[in-house]
Amino acid sequence: MQLRFLGGAGEVGRSAVLVDDSLLLDFGLLTAEPPQYPVGTPEPDAVVVSHGHLDHVGTIPALLSGRNRPPIHWTPPTRELALTLARDTLKLHGQSPHCPFTENDVKRVTEVSETHGYRESFEAAGYEVTFYNAGHIPGSAHVLVDDAGRSPAGSRTQSGDDGDTRLLYTGDFHVDEPEAADPPAGFDAGEPPVGQRLVAGSTARPDADVVLCESTYSDVAHDPRASVEHRFAQSVKTTLWEGGTVVVPAFAIGRTQEMLLICEAHDIPCYVDGMGKEVTEMLRRHPEFVRDPDALRRAKSHARFVTGRDGQRKRIADQPAAIVTTSGMLSGGPAMTYIPEIRANPVNKITMTGYQVEGTPGRELLETGRAEIDGRVMPVSAQVEGYDFSAHADHDGLRRFLDSYDGAEILVNHGDRCEAFADELRADGYDAAAPELGATYSV
Ligand SMILES: [Zn+2]
Repeated sequence: MQLRFLGGAGEVGRSAVLVDDSLLLDFGLLTAEPPQYPVGTPEPDAVVVSHGHLDHVGTIPALLSGRNRPPIHWTPPTRELALTLARDTLKLHGQSPHCPFTENDVKRVTEVSETHGYRESFEAAGYEVTFYNAGHIPGSAHVLVDDAGRSPAGSRTQSGDDGDTRLLYTGDFHVDEPEAADPPAGFDAGEPPVGQRLVAGSTARPDADVVLCESTYSDVAHDPRASVEHRFAQSVKTTLWEGGTVVVPAFAIGRTQEMLLICEAHDIPCYVDGMGKEVTEMLRRHPEFVRDPDALRRAKSHARFVTGRDGQRKRIADQPAAIVTTSGMLSGGPAMTYIPEIRANPVNKITMTGYQVEGTPGRELLETGRAEIDGRVMPVSAQVEGYDFSAHADHDGLRRFLDSYDGAEILVNHGDRCEAFADELRADGYDAAAPELGATYSV
């Protein structure tokens, strides 16, 4: 089996790996000015997608802009998220020469789409492929690729390959904590969570000879989930008791729903705004891909959906409530309306809910207490806090996962310090490497 790294090697964004010049795993987009796409122009026989985040699906429609019409395999939620993101990309960049696809290409995606559930093996470009829950966002999958049944005639590579390799591509994943920690004193939201409320952590460990493993948080230790949640809930409630408003910037996919579940569990009155509303509605149609469909139903009816009509946003910004809204890093979305409204009052609060990439307004706000909104730098007197509601495994989570693969070849991708993590694994006896962008590996 030959793997070519077209993106996501030593970086987060534009994930893309080509297997034997034939099967493409993910085809993402790196958010930047201008956006960056995977290198090369692959013409795969089939495409398999791990999950519906921009950095894994963002460039998929471009694969259909020529004559090639490869089938695209994914779970039902991943398909819906990919289409939502593609339409959003067209809205943002459709007029720009940097946009790599057209509305027509997006339509073609629906024509070649093939959806599969977890643990239902299917054939793609002659490989047997199986999805397993990756615990990252709804529909996210570890992808097992087995070339055992693949006829050599179907193979474009002449590597003398015996055709018996099982590759596990983890995609992004999250694992639950090994055991429930004692709940923090005063925890009042039922059973303390051991992971994300929205999706159960990854538990499947299918046999594999090669593991292509993400490493986003390979140098981070997440605090126990129950304590992060508790600190967040206490902080928000304090502000609401004081009559303040809390803006909760959150990514539309996964994080918005997680925050709504937390608000419901802790009885925090909340509004939801931005693209996360549409995603919440969509997930209600795919209950088998969330941890607790009843909890999501309760969370959805607990939250008030903002329509944005008749100055509604300005009125809400005066109320003692949490406002869960895109964008997660303050680079657009309705958050841009709420922040200027609430920023001057020190009773109000802005709680960031995820990692803030360097150079984003969210990062600047956390570090300097100023925010650049619509090109104007504004001082912010409202309190600013950051919480780590990560949907990625941390260092110990990655190591617990890899414990099941000590005899396999490990290739580390999707992170800022892939090389350092591969070094650590090698020092512990693993056969590990960190491929570079554009590199080809025979496994
Ligand atoms: Zn992701």
